[in-house]
Amino acid sequence: MNIQQIDDQFIANTYHRFPIQIVRGNGAELFDKDGKRYIDLGSGIAVNTFGVGDESWKSAVISQLNKVQHTSNYYYTEPCAKLAEMLCDRTGMKKVFFSNSGAEANECAIKAARRYAFLKYGDESHHNIITLKNSFHGRTITTLSATGQDAFHKEFGPFTPGFIYTEPENIEQLKQLVSQYQCTAIMLEVIQGEGGVCQLSQEYINAIKKLAKEKQLLIIVDEVQTGNGRTGKLYGYMHYGLQPDIISTAKGLAGGLPIGATLLGEKVQNALGYGTHGSTFGGNPISCAAAVNILSRIDEALMEQVQKKSNYIKKELSYIKGVVEISGLGLMLGIKTNKPADKIIMNCMEKGVLILSAKDKLRLLPPLNISFSLLEEAITILKEEILR
Ligand SMILES: *Cc1c(COP(=O)(O)O)cnc(C)c1O
Repeated sequence: MNIQQIDDQFIANTYHRFPIQIVRGNGAELFDKDGKRYIDLGSGIAVNTFGVGDESWKSAVISQLNKVQHTSNYYYTEPCAKLAEMLCDRTGMKKVFFSNSGAEANECAIKAARRYAFLKYGDESHHNIITLKNSFHGRTITTLSATGQDAFHKEFGPFTPGFIYTEPENIEQLKQLVSQYQCTAIMLEVIQGEGGVCQLSQEYINAIKKLAKEKQLLIIVDEVQTGNGRTGKLYGYMHYGLQPDIISTAKGLAGGLPIGATLLGEKVQNALGYGTHGSTFGGNPISCAAAVNILSRIDEALMEQVQKKSNYIKKELSYIKGVVEISGLGLMLGIKTNKPADKIIMNCMEKGVLILSAKDKLRLLPPLNISFSLLEEAITILKEEILR
């Protein structure tokens, strides 16, 4: 049997894979088992922040690998402490809990918000969390519950109670729900990634800020996809003049290794006490050393490059017949086309360009350091396929 056949037989059939087997890569280029080259505009879903095999990242990983690969959270290690310090320095948050994925980072955010309410009110009365319709927060039972899409609330019940869904941009509905339910937090993505790269307006965020202050609600921002330089700022919320109480992040943070991080602000820094939460792999020294490398390179110069590339893509695609709308920020872009996205994605793949989708849109999440020449080559092919 070849790899595809073995995979089809032995891997749980939850994924609908494209019929290509990736064997290696270099930067924003990937190669399949027959040596065919692809330009990668997906970064493994916004994970490979600096592409594949980046030298500086690799040496940070190998250097830690040569020291110790895992210790458990019974002991101190340098990469974990350093990374937490860097994250707090750059966000104004106070403490960090490390886990291994976006869903876990959100689980911790939810636990912190609930325990904050418990400590504040002395009971579990204010356990509710408002989340947005069309959001995506993960695949565990609780983060599925948090996800404001009915399609995710089927066949796996009972789901965790305590989530109230509100229509994005509908300020009146939000106000009404906040007075109807005893809530601890509002949880949101500033750009809904899986939901179709839908960006929240400044006006809506302002209303959330105002309401959160009046009703003493925490603001949780899910930066799993928007985080770590993806949108042209270190975190997506930084476009809005917002200071969240809790930030969750994952995907691109360690540049290709599993990590989740939940950042706790002033109000919630002590909401989780000894023994209230934990993770065996959380704070893994190799993942953390990788993340220290990635985070230290997300600077003004890189963000300028991200913005330039973003502007280039928007400019090139905006005048193409067949493009209905371009959404998103930085190198997290959604493209609504007249032709079905699936068809364009398959055709681009044949021509050696890998593109993702989100709902009915094309979704671009290239490595932040993709070269202009590779980007031009890929966008030229994409334009041809949208027009064809
Ligand atoms: C991908 C994603 C998640 C889930 O992350 P996993 O690492 O797959 O658990 C949660 N929230 C958002 C916004 C995401 O994009």
